[in-house]
Amino acid sequence: MVDEKAWAIIGKDVASAGAKLIAVSKTKPASDILMLHKLGQRAFGENYVQELVGKSVELPKDIEWHFIGHLQSNKVKYIAPFVEWIHGVDSFRLLLEINKEALKNNRVIHVLLQMHIAQEDTKFGLDEKELKELLSYYEAQMESLKNIRICGLMGMASNTDEMGVVRSEYQFLKDIFQHLKETTFLQSPYFTQLSMGMSGDYKTALEEGSTMIRVGSLIFGSR
Ligand SMILES: *Cc1c(COP(=O)(O)O)cnc(C)c1O
Repeated sequence: MVDEKAWAIIGKDVASAGAKLIAVSKTKPASDILMLHKLGQRAFGENYVQELVGKSVELPKDIEWHFIGHLQSNKVKYIAPFVEWIHGVDSFRLLLEINKEALKNNRVIHVLLQMHIAQEDTKFGLDEKELKELLSYYEAQMESLKNIRICGLMGMASNTDEMGVVRSEYQFLKDIFQHLKETTFLQSPYFTQLSMGMSGDYKTALEEGSTMIRVGSLIFGSR
């Protein structure tokens, strides 16, 4: 069941923060997406490749699809024809693959580098050393990577009710983002996005400078 009221409230919060709401529709039926689409929502997030491909065929073409989960290199080809944003890039190999498939489709795909900021070590993402390494490869090959656009960072905070912990993790991510803006991406007008915040912590994330929140269960109900 879509909670239209919750969607409207989150939409207001997001608008007053100058951010954007990605409605995370994974595991939910296409009819739920259509309902929100009628209300004006255009950005939707999915994190299973097959499911995303199916929905993209079935649903209106003006939807802006965000792939937000962990993406395997061998599956990039399935979503490259239509996906606008890929949030979870955490290896140079994946970046190369996205560029290759985007080129085949004559498109530019927006990507965010995923940082590991949570305490749990089950979550994907780069640590600072891996980020540095990835960026050095990127800088060396930038000229040939014309079909990807690195637009910022993404992170998932620890799964905890302690908002102090979540807040400090988001601050950490923002510090890295600011640093990259002033160094590696100083010349890039595109490096502007900080994807952080989910149902349980989106307000904290907005306070800490999030530009894209990824909210599922508050809008679509629990999974
Ligand atoms: C599922 C998911 C979300 C949304 O989670 P909710 O708690 O339902 O809002 C956000 N980001 C990622 C990467 C997800 O996999």
